[in-house]
Amino acid sequence: MRFFDLHCDTISTRVARGGGKVHLRRSEGQLDLERLRAGGVSAQVFAAFLPTGDAAREVGVTEKPQALFDQIYACYQKELRANKDLLAPALSGRDILKNEQNGRISAILSIEDSVLLDGNLHKLPALHKKGVRIMTLTWNYENSLGYPASPVPADMARGLKPFGKAAVQRMQELGILVDVSHLSDGGFQDVAALSRTAHIPFAATHSCARALCPHPRNLTDEMLHTIGETGSVCGINFNAYFLNGRSGNYTKIDDIVQCARYMRNKAGIDALALGSDFDGIDSTLEFGDCAGLPQLADALAMYFPSEEVEKICWKNALRVFSAVTDR
Ligand SMILES: [Zn+2]
Repeated sequence: MRFFDLHCDTISTRVARGGGKVHLRRSEGQLDLERLRAGGVSAQVFAAFLPTGDAAREVGVTEKPQALFDQIYACYQKELRANKDLLAPALSGRDILKNEQNGRISAILSIEDSVLLDGNLHKLPALHKKGVRIMTLTWNYENSLGYPASPVPADMARGLKPFGKAAVQRMQELGILVDVSHLSDGGFQDVAALSRTAHIPFAATHSCARALCPHPRNLTDEMLHTIGETGSVCGINFNAYFLNGRSGNYTKIDDIVQCARYMRNKAGIDALALGSDFDGIDSTLEFGDCAGLPQLADALAMYFPSEEVEKICWKNALRVFSAVTDR
């Protein structure tokens, strides 16, 4: 089985912050290139995660978002150069297929928290040129685009700001996949409306189902239905506390399988994908790490026919990524 993982934080949380000592090829975290290969991963999204506020202070990040992105970007480029035998950048769905033929894992660059736009639309073409193909509109704080998911109903209902709507439209024009994970419910509705108008799908790269686990980061049944209806995808997050947290901070394979079954019923089989959040979550996984993904595929195969397991593991994510980036 091949895999297309819509989200990990490895390049930001481990490599860029590892003081030059941690490398993508082999690391102690949940994901590295050798284990991606062992697991059969064909495309991996690497998020340039740009923490702000208390989150930045907690991890000792003092740089402004743009400077931090530049730093992570330099690190990402260095890793691409150092691991040419295993990894190649993918700027489009076509690149993923080409890289696969050449025996390379595709690396896709995303930005988690579009805070670095800071109200400037002109930054988007420059980021696209650098290879950014997915942008998560917000993280857990308000930014110039909109508001994050929140347990407070009035905050959760807040939509995108005018700049946020303009940024989404510009991303759609450029061929950047819009990511609604972390976004407020009101913001989600605005992205969905823009997606319907433009006939361009979007993604929730690393989110689960709110009906199974009442966390604001998760998607309601209505949102799941919208994702299916717009031809978009949702990458199931492997965080135990987003799946259900019944076993504490331990992610059972069955938790992910049950989330997939639920999402299929609400969003349809074409909307399901994987968004591990490796090295962004501290859950212990029953299948260990990215090398254990085939165990997840085997468990999915108990409930889904093989062509549907393929859709969940890579085909749906590739379809949406290609629809946005193959121009
Ligand atoms: Zn995240």
